[in-house]
Amino acid sequence: MTHTLKPGVVTGDDYRTLLQACKEGQYALPAVNVIGTNTINAVLEAASKNKSDVIIQLSNGGAQFYAGKGMEDEFQAKVLGAVSAAHHVHMLAEHYGVCVILHTDHANKKLVPWVEAMLDHGEEFYKIHGKPLFSSHMVDLSEEDIDYNINECARLLERMVKIDMSIEIELGVTGGEEDGVGSDDIDNDKLYTQPEDCLKAYEVLQPIGHFTLAASFGNVHGVYKPGNVELRPEILKNSQDLVQKTHNTGPNPLDLVFHGGSGSDKGQITESLGYGVFKMNIDTDTQFAFAEGVGKFVLDNDKAFKHQIDPVSGEPYKKLYDPRKWLRLGEENTVARLDEAFKDLESAGKSIAKVCCQGKSSCAA
Ligand SMILES: [Zn+2]
Repeated sequence: MTHTLKPGVVTGDDYRTLLQACKEGQYALPAVNVIGTNTINAVLEAASKNKSDVIIQLSNGGAQFYAGKGMEDEFQAKVLGAVSAAHHVHMLAEHYGVCVILHTDHANKKLVPWVEAMLDHGEEFYKIHGKPLFSSHMVDLSEEDIDYNINECARLLERMVKIDMSIEIELGVTGGEEDGVGSDDIDNDKLYTQPEDCLKAYEVLQPIGHFTLAASFGNVHGVYKPGNVELRPEILKNSQDLVQKTHNTGPNPLDLVFHGGSGSDKGQITESLGYGVFKMNIDTDTQFAFAEGVGKFVLDNDKAFKHQIDPVSGEPYKKLYDPRKWLRLGEENTVARLDEAFKDLESAGKSIAKVCCQGKSSCAA
């Protein structure tokens, strides 16, 4: 079955259509963490260049940075930065000709008020535009008791469905560290989600609305020495099979998210795509790509970062220190890293965005 959507931010039914296309085609979309317009635009550029749809997401720290580290009220900055970034994406995404899912990243128990404050803004946006600001928020209560986790997510999902939003939840703990939502000394078996817990989440959440699930199968945030944790994608398959068997659904009933994808083995990424993974988070590798692009230029042109005019030759360095010069190199290197991600996730060339003859959204052509 072929699906098409209007380019731009996709939410509600359109989000589920895109997700379905990914699962049917056995490919996933990179969910790239962004912190400002440079990274957002690089992601849009990369998606457009690779003719792939994409997921843009903000952590609470990324959102705060977007609003500005100088903003005194940090909580407000986390809320307003996310809202501001979402507006930026809503304004530009369709002009890059691809579909964009807008997401936020990990929110633990302390950050539930952050999610609720973003929902306040999302509800206002919905009143005006008939669609939400974000396609989905992640609520990660995996460090809490399983029943608390699922019930609290159910409570938030009840509110989200009213504005056509989805929720991403986490069961089991992703190792590593990300924006303070880390897990240094956790039991090793918590790194592997239990299929019974996935079933429980499905039974509570699915009747309320649409949810996606970050299941742990030994994945770790960041890039570490290989061999610390063993990746076991078959855990994803076991969870899918249990839900399918118990509720007599079609294959791969769960919409799965792969956290901690940076530095993962290509074979295991491919294996997870067959088990209903449609979203793979990427942060560490694109952070490095941006830094590498800027860093190389700064090292090669160090004098231009110390003097406006060369103290010996009198040569003006304006063309080199102009932030547009070196920030662009960060963007370009991010695009190059994302070329690889689209290829690994097999989403390149598969954008379902289509502008029809009248440029309208619901064209059957
Ligand atoms: Zn994560």
